[in-house]
Amino acid sequence: MISLSSKELLETSIKEYIIPSEKVAHVQVGNSLEHALLLLTRSGYSSIPVLDPSFRLHGLISSRLITDHILGLERFEFEKLEERKVENVMSTDLSTISIDSTFKEAFNLLIDQPFLCVVSSEGHFDGIMTRRVVLKELKKHIYQMIHSG
Ligand code: AMP
Repeated sequence: MISLSSKELLETSIKEYIIPSEKVAHVQVGNSLEHALLLLTRSGYSSIPVLDPSFRLHGLISSRLITDHILGLERFEFEKLEERKVENVMSTDLSTISIDSTFKEAFNLLIDQPFLCVVSSEGHFDGIMTRRVVLKELKKHIYQMIHSG
C-alpha cells in the first residue's frame, strides 16, 4: 500500500472525495418552507442546498432556520410553512470551495461546518464535501502512519 506523507495528504485534491450534485438532496428557489421541511425530515439531513433550475447555489436551508422562522410569541405559526419560500429564510452566509481545492483548505473550513458546497467559478453547484469523508481519510492516514512506523 502506498502511504502518503501528511504534507501530501494536505495537498491532495478534494475532487475524488466529493458527493456529486446529482446525489445531493436539495430544494429549489421558489419551493415552500413546508416542502423543505418535509425533505429535511425525510432525509434526516440537518441542512441542504437551495439551487435554481440551472444548478446555481443560492444558499442553505435547515430545519433550525425554518422552526426559528415560524416561531411566534406563544405558538408555532404553521401557516407560514405554506406561505413562505425557502429564499426568504435560507442562509446566504456560507463558505464554498472549488473542485480544485485541497484537503488543507477543506480541513480549515470543515472545523466550523459539517459540509461544504463545492461551487465552480461560474457559480455552478458541483456537489458537497462532508466532514465525515475528511475524517475517514484522516483516520486512514493516521492508521497507516502508526502501522508503518
Ligand atoms: P454526514 O457527514 O454524512 O453526516 O453529513 C453531514 C451533513 O452534510 C448532513 O447533515 C447534511 O446536511 C449534509 N449532507 C450529507 N450528505 C448529503 C446528501 N447526499 N444530500 C444533502 N445533504 C447531505
